[in-house]
Parts: sequence; structure tokens; C-alpha cells
Amino acid sequence: MASKFCRHICPRNCYNTCGLVSLVEDRRITGLYGDPAHGYSRGHLCRFGYRYLDLFYHPERVIYPLRQVPRGSGNWRRISWDEAYELIAGKMLVE
Ligand code: SF4
Repeated sequence: MASKFCRHICPRNCYNTCGLVSLVEDRRITGLYGDPAHGYSRGHLCRFGYRYLDLFYHPERVIYPLRQVPRGSGNWRRISWDEAYELIAGKMLVE
């Protein structure tokens, strides 16, 4: 079994940007810890950080683009990444 430790920054939208160390075994994260070398968090995470793996591997996590048509209907359908990028870019472009 191939395993390694990797260092990250917590991806949640939080100002602390805590350091993480993950244990990756056979291309799957099996452990997640606070990075003791991080200058601010010094090996500690909040309850969201410690639960991050539950979110990451949750069976209902959305891992592809969805579009709700019509908006507000609750009628979601899967779309391609190209379609999603075009929709987003089309809304960002200013005429
Ligand atoms: S572990 Fe918690 S406190 Fe640290 S950056 Fe992530 S969400 Fe913020």
C-alpha cells in the first residue's frame, strides 16, 4: 500500500487558513490532522476542520455541475462542465 503525508491549507471560507496534514493511502485520504508547523493554528483545527473528511467523502456531495430549471423549481439536472463554464462566463461578461 502506497501512503504519504501531504500538507494543505483548509479550504473552507475562513480567515484562519489553518494548516492541514493529510495521510493519503492508495490515493484516498484516510487521516486529517492539524499541521503543527503552521504559524497560526499550530496543529489545531476547529470542529469544521476536524470533520472535513466527512464532508469530502460524503456520498451526497455534489461533484459535478447541476442546473435548476426553471430557477427556484427544485428541478435540478446534471450539465456538462463546458455548459457550466459557458453559463458562468456568459453572466460575467459585461457588454
Ligand atoms: S480549520 Fe476551522 S478555523 Fe481553521 S481555517 Fe478551517 S474552518 Fe477555519
